[in-house]
Amino acid sequence: MLPDLPVALAGLKELATDLRWTWSHAADALWQQVDAELWGKTENPYVLLQNVGHNQLQALADNPDFCHKLQEVLIERQDYLARCGWYGDSYPQASIRHIAFFSMEYGLGTALPFYAGGLGILSGDILKAASDLCIPLVGVGLLYHQGYFRQMIDADNRQHEIYTTYQPSMLPVRPVFTELGDWLQVKVDLPGRPLLLRVWVAQVGSVSLYLLDSNHPLNSPIDQGITSQLYGGGQELRFLQELVLGVGGWRALEALKVEIDVCHLNEGHAAFVILERTHSLMKATGLSFWPSLWINRAGTLFTTHTSVASAFDTYDAALIARYASPLIERLQIGEEELLGLGRKNPQDAREPFNLAWFSMRCSLFANGVSRKHGETSRDLFRELYPHWPVRDIPIGHITNGIHMPSWDSQWTDSLWTKAAGKERWKGDIDELASAINQISDQELWHCRNRQRQDLIEHVRKRHVRELSQRGADKLTLDRAERVLDPNILTLGFARRFTEYKRPGLLLMDLSRLAALLNHPVHPLQILIAGKAHARDSAGKAFVHDWAQFCQSPAAGNRVIFLEDYDITLAHDMVQGVDVWLNTPKPPWEACGTSGMKVLVNGGLNLSVLDGWWAQAYDNQYGWAICGDSDSDEDTSRALFELLETDVVPLFYQRNSAGVPGEWIARIRASMADLTPHFSSNRMLRDYIDQYYLKAAVAYQARLANRGQLATELREWEHTLQRYWCELRWGAKRVVPNPAGFTLEVDIYLDGLSPDLIEVQLYADAQIYADVQQKDAAEPECLIMKLLGYKRGAIDSYTYRTEVLTARPSDDYTPRAIPFHEHALTPQENCLISWWQSA
Ligand SMILES: *Cc1c(COP(=O)(O)O)cnc(C)c1O
Repeated sequence: MLPDLPVALAGLKELATDLRWTWSHAADALWQQVDAELWGKTENPYVLLQNVGHNQLQALADNPDFCHKLQEVLIERQDYLARCGWYGDSYPQASIRHIAFFSMEYGLGTALPFYAGGLGILSGDILKAASDLCIPLVGVGLLYHQGYFRQMIDADNRQHEIYTTYQPSMLPVRPVFTELGDWLQVKVDLPGRPLLLRVWVAQVGSVSLYLLDSNHPLNSPIDQGITSQLYGGGQELRFLQELVLGVGGWRALEALKVEIDVCHLNEGHAAFVILERTHSLMKATGLSFWPSLWINRAGTLFTTHTSVASAFDTYDAALIARYASPLIERLQIGEEELLGLGRKNPQDAREPFNLAWFSMRCSLFANGVSRKHGETSRDLFRELYPHWPVRDIPIGHITNGIHMPSWDSQWTDSLWTKAAGKERWKGDIDELASAINQISDQELWHCRNRQRQDLIEHVRKRHVRELSQRGADKLTLDRAERVLDPNILTLGFARRFTEYKRPGLLLMDLSRLAALLNHPVHPLQILIAGKAHARDSAGKAFVHDWAQFCQSPAAGNRVIFLEDYDITLAHDMVQGVDVWLNTPKPPWEACGTSGMKVLVNGGLNLSVLDGWWAQAYDNQYGWAICGDSDSDEDTSRALFELLETDVVPLFYQRNSAGVPGEWIARIRASMADLTPHFSSNRMLRDYIDQYYLKAAVAYQARLANRGQLATELREWEHTLQRYWCELRWGAKRVVPNPAGFTLEVDIYLDGLSPDLIEVQLYADAQIYADVQQKDAAEPECLIMKLLGYKRGAIDSYTYRTEVLTARPSDDYTPRAIPFHEHALTPQENCLISWWQSA
């Protein structure tokens, strides 16, 4: 909560509670004037206003110049909020009322520490970009009292996990009040007790983020702690948090009367919203569970972020059953029916309830987060679509992007502004590439140097603070104040410390590493940061090894491990480093976003070809670490080789003006071509075009007339189910011709109307001897034409198609699949029947 301000300064409250200050610098000069020291220390207007003295506030209120500037900033804010924006301009007729974005974590800035890593940062960036593009989106999440752990390294270089307690009154969030002026609370039924949740809101420009809080005095002490730690506790706590997010989140939106067309599930964590929303639809339409689920599904999008099946959340049936009884009662379905939705084989009672399977079954659209991850995901989810080729598995991809204005530096902000204007991230981004070409080599290089210098200044301060906390002596502290060199090539590696990220590759050959660091003319310096999960002993060992190495003589004071990797540190690093290193073990990196953050700042990527880099890489932009990806030794060798023979020499190769021309050429190409493409701006536009608009239309169509279409679809599903096992294929006749062949096939449908199915002729992608061509090959799928009844037979039909091809007819197989113009196959109905000779 903020103190009472003099009337003339009331607008400061408005500014301080809008997290737009995490990316817009319009008000920076004001805050600087309010209290330069507090501003310099925190860059957090909310904390600043809470700590500034009354006399100072009074003085500012009496200062006409300050009040005038405040007015200007407030007008800028009003204009920002009143825009029609990219979305309004591009889709004036679009009928999306709201998109509800559900996520367990949000990384909006250090001021609101409700994130653990990449997933949260992504969610935060999505809200910010939605605000910039004027997309009608609201966020739903949890208000954590302890959040994620803070990392401390002790004098023996071991990681400790520290939990800080955050008072909501100290955070830039407000309670949400009902029309009657009561603090909004929603209820989730738990066995034998209600769980009360208070609702808070964080303002992110024009986007509201609603946060649920179980710390309510009427809950039991244990229930009060449900929203305490992010990814703390065991399975049961995790389940309860997910129940709060999904069920509580939906109830809060209903209480607030926010009309939602699309629910976007960021990971399976939010899956329980499906059940609560279905219940709302049952009440609204008077329909039973299944047709209501058909309505709901149309308005649901599921984004998966994992690359391995073991990372999906699963719960024992017993745990679900224990908590689900109130839900099951309201939904009027059987327990096994519900559990079946989360199982590969719904009938298999031994299978646990898998949130990914459940989310997939209940969404109209699903996507992975990079091109490669789309492929990986189609493979992972294949088991839900038996007998379908992997290419048909209904998971697309939208590659993640980052909110550039949140990650650029003051130096690159002014470069980009000069080249492309202030509004560059609020609309079309197609022209940005050419804008960067107006900037001279000198300017780019100057900017890089300034950024490296800033980084080193910040690192020194941070490092001194950390060392004093560890009880370091004066000599060590003095040395830390002068550590690193602003003229040396600077490499950054910061990410979660866990085995698949392979943080230890550079430590696999210490003499080679020492030689790089201490090279007499071409030295290298390295910044390392990352937390290991409390229970990840391998990850913790990597932390220890790096922290230990930093102190060894071989490191020559040119490697620093920085504690407590967070948004602030990420911010400093991605702005200042020359090269960003990433070494995941393919195919584990679903996307990775940290490397995108250096693009806007002129940093270059040096990474294994996995996640986003597999689709972005070209040697004009940066480097690909090749080698046998299954072997850490081999990858480590490839990394050293690249550094020694390519990366390091190129940086020091200067032209007559003292500028590394080739290096700058890469910076320019990477900034121009990659930055727009890997922005959250592009990502959200993709979400709108590929999913949100279509989902909203489908949802409204199925909901209209009390769910008439959904009822029809449910019956369609039933009918197909009943007849499908009676389908029988008849003879297949091929008549060759010079251009290919004509194929006819008979099929017996029992009582099923041919209107409900489609018969297709399918051929796998051709196998070419030439590997290059294989990538380009696509399967073929032709719709066969119904000729009519098969002569002299009952319920049998003949289909025909002409195929223009050089391929043999044996490559092609007829198949029957469900068809309805308002349903997606196989996403919503995965029946399939392949031709077999009778
Ligand atoms: C961007 C970011 C991440 C995600 O980075 P990856 O590339 O997925 O490792 C994690 N933590 C912080 C603090 C970040 O800023």
